[in-house]
Amino acid sequence: AAARAALESLVVDVPDFPEPGIVFKDITPLLADHTAFTAVITALAAVGRDESGAPVVDKVVGMEARGFILAAPVALALGTGFVPVRKAGKLPRGTHAVSYALEYGEATLELHRDAIAPGDRVLMVDDVLATGGTARATRELIESCGGTAHGLAVLMELGVLAGRDAIGDLPVATLMTV
Ligand code: IMP
Repeated sequence: AAARAALESLVVDVPDFPEPGIVFKDITPLLADHTAFTAVITALAAVGRDESGAPVVDKVVGMEARGFILAAPVALALGTGFVPVRKAGKLPRGTHAVSYALEYGEATLELHRDAIAPGDRVLMVDDVLATGGTARATRELIESCGGTAHGLAVLMELGVLAGRDAIGDLPVATLMTV
């Protein structure tokens, strides 16, 4: 509980950013603190391990953009490679694409077709789970490659369970619920 409070104190609420009415969760103070950053990466990576601590995933996928910052060190901790899921038009080679509805409009995410091999077990990592739309689209992309989503590890969950319900039957680990 003390460790969790210490982490929470390093995530700063910024009212009215990027627009009026939004409270932005700024994780940069946490990233800048070596002890806290290490604790977060260790906890997120635990989702990709079995009870004995052995890694059970073949790849770690991070969602653009803050997911990259967390997913890359999680991949190294687990001894796997890192794979980016990016917004439309950013990846240079053949991709799978999934579009999903946002509160206003639509978003498209892409994954290189050859980034996940058939049969790969994949851990998804992001900073925030909100509606679950990003995670659900990422799961579809992994499955389009023939891979299996092993679980989702996020730093923060906004609102309890709504995002989890959107993703389907999948282990979700959160370090903070706000
Ligand atoms: P979802 O698709 O609604 O679950 O939203 C999750 C994605 O949007 C993640 O990639 C987050 O980085 C981003 N996101 C959504 N809401 C917030 C927020 O309030 N603060 C920071 N990031 C957010």
